[in-house]
Amino acid sequence: MADFYKLDLGEGSTLVFLEGDITRQDTDAVVNAANSTLMGGGGVDGAIHRAGGPAILEECKKIVAAQGHLPPGEAVSTTGGRLTAAFVIHTVGPIWRGGMQGEPALLANAYRNSLRLADRLGLHNLAFPAISTGVYGYPIAQAAQTAIEVAIDTLVGSRNVREVRFVLFDRTTLDTFLEAARSIAERRRADWRLDHVTQPQQT
Ligand code: ADP
Repeated sequence: MADFYKLDLGEGSTLVFLEGDITRQDTDAVVNAANSTLMGGGGVDGAIHRAGGPAILEECKKIVAAQGHLPPGEAVSTTGGRLTAAFVIHTVGPIWRGGMQGEPALLANAYRNSLRLADRLGLHNLAFPAISTGVYGYPIAQAAQTAIEVAIDTLVGSRNVREVRFVLFDRTTLDTFLEAARSIAERRRADWRLDHVTQPQQT
């Protein structure tokens, strides 16, 4: 994490934004933008199962056998398998159908329930991808707005989670999240600043 952006929310809570690959994060948990079957798929989902290995799918199968498919907005946890992260939190974002089918509330639930689950597990930090903005087609600027608002509001009430990291797969998505973060920070608190942090690469 040599080059990232940080929004200090006070009381030890921070939001971090970076361009990167979710499977390579050293947070306690990484969040998977799964689908309701929990059987893996493309995008982030495929990358997490490939990098983490078969133990993740084994647990997903048990969860589905016990409680059925995971509805949009809900979240469950499994092992991280071979990932550095000890846990994967699987959540299902909404499919974008024009914005009038409850998509913002479902996306908010996906972020909120993932964060609350991480908090219940006693985790200190977790990394999110830009849920629903791939094959599910959610417009990135609107998704960023919801993701950041919910992260701020949920972090405030968290007992254990102190850092929420947004890991964006390309520069355009990162820039869209940064723009949303700046406008939310300006609107909410005059003393909130988005800092660019660069550190020498570790060898
Ligand atoms: P969804 O089905 O929720 O839209 P996708 O996996 O298709 O999920 O895409 C969600 C976002 O994750 C997209 O912005 C995509 O570019 C990004 N993405 C894909 N692979 C990775 C990865 N390895 N790490 C982080 N983000 C990723």
